[in-house]
Amino acid sequence: MYKLTSRKYKSEDSIFEIAGRKIGGGDFAVIAGPCSVESEAQILSIAQSVKNAGAAFLRGGAFKARTSPYDFEGLGLDGLELLELARKRTGLPIVSEILSEAHLELFAECVDILQVGARNMQNFALLRRVGELGKPVLLKRGLSATIDELLLSAEHIMAGGAEQVILCERGIRTFEPATRNTLDLSAVPVIKNKSHLPVFVDPSHATGCADLVAPLALAAAACGADGLIIEVHDEPEAALCDGTQSLKPEAFAELMRRVERVREAARL
Ligand code: PEP
Ligand code: MN
Repeated sequence: MYKLTSRKYKSEDSIFEIAGRKIGGGDFAVIAGPCSVESEAQILSIAQSVKNAGAAFLRGGAFKARTSPYDFEGLGLDGLELLELARKRTGLPIVSEILSEAHLELFAECVDILQVGARNMQNFALLRRVGELGKPVLLKRGLSATIDELLLSAEHIMAGGAEQVILCERGIRTFEPATRNTLDLSAVPVIKNKSHLPVFVDPSHATGCADLVAPLALAAAACGADGLIIEVHDEPEAALCDGTQSLKPEAFAELMRRVERVREAARL
């Protein structure tokens, strides 16, 4: 069924070097930042805080896929420019979501890892074109996608030519309303059995709730994930998108310390 993504095709774990950061192979990389870039002051301040806390990459949405057309849809091109400025100031490489094939060239220039979001996991035309760029891709699991479907979507990207594809478990739709989605941590070891690609976990979008981010981030670190994506905001209550699940910079820094302790314990 799948080939390029499969462990049968490549038995050893894939290890990537992206903008000088190692992904996989026992390293643990954290991507952190706001859901959306909102202003220069906001992104520069958050970028500096997550860098100081040990994040390897800065995330920030410039083009946002919103369920309601009346919600904030991102700063667009200005958002990408602000991310470039944040990279210049902090040295942190950038992860941002691409929504449209029309933005391929722009993203190829501005972004270090192209994120394909849950809602576009099966946008096969976009997957193929993103793959053809040959740049690193972070592919998030669709809201109702099986693990095999996630791997087949990664296969589309790799068939386009890209080699550095990171898979991301970000929660799936279930009957349980206590969390925004249900984090399927079993996806981590299941994917690791089937595929050589690195697996990240996003407890922010999985839970929709800042209080639940740390426990699930620690569980992800303990069960073999290669990294995390965490939403961080200076003023979560004023965030234009996903404030309820965003950690304040101090809480993020504390989580980073606890993740290290869990990783040490998991190595025993
Ligand atoms: C995001 O990372 O901001 C996002 C929209 O995530 P997802 O595609 O997982 O919902
Ligand atoms: Mn978000």
